[in-house]
Amino acid sequence: MPWLTPVLEHFGQALDQGRLPHASLVTGERGVGKRQLAERIAALLVCDRRAPGSRAACGECRQCRLVAGESHPDIRVYQPEKSRMIRIDQVRALSQFAVASPQVAGVKVAILDRADQLNINAANALLKTLEEPAADVVLLLLQETGRPVLPTIRSRCRVLPVATPGAEAATAWLAAELADREPAPDTDRQALALHLAGGAPRLAVELLDSEFLMQRDTALEAFRQFMKGAITVAAAARAFRELGHEATLNLMEGWASDLARVMAGGEARDPGIAEVVRYLATANPPWRVQQLVDAIRDSRRALVNNVSPELETDRLLVQWRRLMPVRKRAAG
Ligand SMILES: [Zn+2]
Repeated sequence: MPWLTPVLEHFGQALDQGRLPHASLVTGERGVGKRQLAERIAALLVCDRRAPGSRAACGECRQCRLVAGESHPDIRVYQPEKSRMIRIDQVRALSQFAVASPQVAGVKVAILDRADQLNINAANALLKTLEEPAADVVLLLLQETGRPVLPTIRSRCRVLPVATPGAEAATAWLAAELADREPAPDTDRQALALHLAGGAPRLAVELLDSEFLMQRDTALEAFRQFMKGAITVAAAARAFRELGHEATLNLMEGWASDLARVMAGGEARDPGIAEVVRYLATANPPWRVQQLVDAIRDSRRALVNNVSPELETDRLLVQWRRLMPVRKRAAG
């Protein structure tokens, strides 16, 4: 993942110069490879026999063998479990780890994957560790773009953004990553996954490995039928339920963007929706699309307030349907 190189280089230089940052906040889009990057940095930091100037661990020393066996006692990962939030007892465990002596390496590395999922109590507990850093611990906090981290935490970290790779680099990496799959997804499927992942290659792999694309196909087909008036809003909404509300919103947001793009003379990025949006583009003024985008945004806000996701999906589907010329709508 060549787009991770600048951040890795940052740590390599810090190592060479003997001034490791105490706490770093690695930020980037979901699925861009932040976790893999943090694990590589951790391996680099604990390795005993890294060649000077090298940005890779030796792979052979005792430390590297422990890393390979995923049993290095001086590297710890803290991540949300079922609750989707980092719990305060996880932060307490991290704090204890931070002040204890390293067991086998010269340094301890704590990865907090995802610092944007700390509630206020957990964040405050973490703050103590950030304020009184032990000399032999490196904290790697990971943050997903668009998810806020408390300013008090952020200000105590070196912020290191991971750029989303360009389309060419992402496509090449994805193809290489999937090359030995049996059967390997075809290039159209790979391109679609990458598009739905917002260009983040690791997330694209996750989507290809999960049932997401199949569920998306089902939802898309139901959407097409609904727009033609062939099925009811309830039947269409059922197809979206499997996806979950957030993915539904992302999908609809992508389609609305495609509609705006086509209206402006461009091409739809999601080939599955191209025909529908081309038709809608000829039948609607641009402000109707803006209305739709606003409705999707409202729905995203409503989600935070625990509004029924089913009702929100119904509401958005009806909004989409209003873009169909009356003649077509009456046919359903
Ligand atoms: Zn090594």
